Amino acid sequence: MITLTVAQLAMIADAAEAAYPDECCGLLVGHGNRHIHVTRLVPALNLLRGEAHDRFELDPRTRFETERTLRGTTERVVGHWHSHPDGTATPSPTDLKQAWEPELVWLIIGVTANAANTPQALQILAHQLDRERNRSRNITLRLTKNSTCKPQGFPT
Ligand SMILES: [Zn+2]
Repeated sequence: MITLTVAQLAMIADAAEAAYPDECCGLLVGHGNRHIHVTRLVPALNLLRGEAHDRFELDPRTRFETERTLRGTTERVVGHWHSHPDGTATPSPTDLKQAWEPELVWLIIGVTANAANTPQALQILAHQLDRERNRSRNITLRLTKNSTCKPQGFPT
């Protein structure tokens, strides 16, 4: 299970809609093992932005910087999110091929333009990807109003 606050989910949906028709991505920082709590979101540059709708490459500098700031704390990078413009919130074959770290949670947001051509985040699902077996597993996504573990806000 992975728990996010309603505000965090809204931030991810907003970022996915703003990036449409490109893919956006970012890191999920948190703690816990069987039950993961997300404490912080770190938006990252998608290095493949504008190139393809079914793939993304999170800027490794953001990952490195984030790991560095978390050193010695109880928090860690627990996963990442990315959007699927005009797609569903399930992992693509490319996602499965790129799932090098089986412990990370993949949060995927399906975004589609409505009749008025306004992008709308329609579905958000959490997954764990098993590259070896070429399959993914759904993780329960729980929403809370307020984080019990002091969210540190959205970095600017
Ligand atoms: Zn994807």
